[in-house]
Amino acid sequence: MTAIDWDIWTPKDFGLDPNKNILQAPICDCGCGQKMSMLFNDKQWKEFAMSFLHEYDCDWSIIFAVHPNKTMEFIIRNDTKYGFGGGAIENWKDVGKTFDEAELVNWGLMMDDGLYNALNGQHKYKILE
Ligand SMILES: [Zn+2]
Repeated sequence: MTAIDWDIWTPKDFGLDPNKNILQAPICDCGCGQKMSMLFNDKQWKEFAMSFLHEYDCDWSIIFAVHPNKTMEFIIRNDTKYGFGGGAIENWKDVGKTFDEAELVNWGLMMDDGLYNALNGQHKYKILE
C-alpha cells in the first residue's frame, strides 16, 4: 500500500456532511494543541469504534475506516445492534453514499495511513474532522 497524506482531506472529499461528524482527534497532552493520530491494529480499531458507538448517545451511527488501497470497513450501530461491513471504494465519495443509503444520523471516519508496523500489526489512523 502506498501512503496517502490525509492532512488536507475534508468530509466533503468523502461526500459527507461535516455537521454529522461525531469523532474528534485526541489532542496532545503536552499543551501544544496538536491533534494526534491513533495507533490500532485491525482488532483494536473495531474495539475502539464499537466502544465509542456504545458510549455515544445515538442509535443510528456509523464509523468508517478507509485505507489507501481504496477499501473501507465500517461498524454501524443500528438501534442496539451492531453490524460490520466494508468493501472496495471506486470513488472516495462512495463513503458518503454508503452513509446516505444506510439512513443513519451520525458518522465518524478514520483514515489509515497504510504504513503497517510489522511488529504489532498497527496502522496509524487519523480522525477526519
Ligand atoms: Zn504536544
